Amino acid sequence: MKNLKLGILKVSFFRQLVTLIIVLPLSVACSKQGDLSRRISNASDDRPVVLTTFTILADMARQVAGDRLQVKSITKPGAEIHGYEPSPRDLEQASNADLIVENGLGLELWARRFVQSAADVPTVTLTEGMQPLLIEGDAYAGKPNPHAWMSPLRAQGYVDRLVDAFSQLDPEGAQLYRDNGNSYKLQLENLDAELRNLLAVIPQKQRVLVSCEGAFSYLAQDYGFDEAYLWPVNAESQISPRRMARLIERVKNDQIPAVFCETTVSDKAQREVARASGARFGGSFYVDSLSKRNGPAPTLLDLQRHNVKLIRQGLAASAEKSS
Ligand SMILES: [Zn+2]
Repeated sequence: MKNLKLGILKVSFFRQLVTLIIVLPLSVACSKQGDLSRRISNASDDRPVVLTTFTILADMARQVAGDRLQVKSITKPGAEIHGYEPSPRDLEQASNADLIVENGLGLELWARRFVQSAADVPTVTLTEGMQPLLIEGDAYAGKPNPHAWMSPLRAQGYVDRLVDAFSQLDPEGAQLYRDNGNSYKLQLENLDAELRNLLAVIPQKQRVLVSCEGAFSYLAQDYGFDEAYLWPVNAESQISPRRMARLIERVKNDQIPAVFCETTVSDKAQREVARASGARFGGSFYVDSLSKRNGPAPTLLDLQRHNVKLIRQGLAASAEKSS
């Protein structure tokens, strides 16, 4: 896959060459940069297309781009994103995009195919340079946990990369992207404080977050929780009876009041854990996908508030009851 900086350097070198050698106005107007400016000033649906691999990145990209760029997501709300199979239409959409935005850390292995097929489209990896948390146990042991957007403070790093990538794609919009990025980063910082406050009511002994996928390592680390889950990554959502039995034991022994699952996978196994352990099934988190526009998690900020509300209801309310 192509590194964004190299890609854009290469493109701008090519542009300079085109501008130097062919000075005919017509040729300049036909160059990609000229084309971009024209499309932006039209402010129609002809605006440059930023294509993200999933809906959460699309929301973040929209916060930074405002109305200046057209942001689309390959996968739709509710899609399982780890084992997604891109369609021929996705591949076509990717090769017509002006910028591809991916998470990285091994999340979108399926995206390799369309990134390769769209070889001249620059790609930005939002976790590049980030020190990831590693997955513990199972076949994925030692691999990076890709769900870094679940930490509001780490999500600020995503915003910085979007600002840089958009500014390279469209230098005339750089100030707007910087301003939007700063205001969104402030919202993420406030969200971090808000979530910390909301979760402060949960007693130490009940700070165990039980989910289907091990997608909460970053959130757990930020807010002082242990985590336990049925499988490390959704791509391998095969439930091993041993893992399930271990989880039931853990929930029973630690008297964890509630267990949870996620909206993009079946909650059947976790409901069984709840039944067998005596815990309550506390609801489904949004993690890998936003909800539809009229659902409870149409943006990343809503998603975090929805999840933390469930965590608080599940783990703090029972504490109040039992104490
Ligand atoms: Zn996931």
